[in-house]
Amino acid sequence: MKGIVIVAPIFFKIFMAPWVSGITLFPFIILKDKESLNKPDLIQHEQIHIRQQLELLVIFFYLWYIIEYLIKRIKTGSWREAYRNISFEKEAYAHQHDSNYLKNRPFGEHIYWL
Ligand SMILES: [Zn+2]
Repeated sequence: MKGIVIVAPIFFKIFMAPWVSGITLFPFIILKDKESLNKPDLIQHEQIHIRQQLELLVIFFYLWYIIEYLIKRIKTGSWREAYRNISFEKEAYAHQHDSNYLKNRPFGEHIYWL
């Protein structure tokens, strides 16, 4: 399962900050614009989130994500630093350039990024 990629500029205009180019809402990878279809790193990043969400039965991914964000937001005092330090994001950013990553990724790998 690599996710169903859709382009939804109006969704991004209404719900997302201007600097966000993609979001994964299982089973969809939602991209801001058609140009984003030509950004393999972005799509790989979101596909890693699809795998993480599957492993945590989707709902537990979102719960964990929000709780970890809040804890790190308090610790760092910065929304950006908190976001970049979420284990799911650290794993996705670290491997978004490696198109083979998901073929060999161990189950529950994001735990090692806590
Ligand atoms: Zn991400």
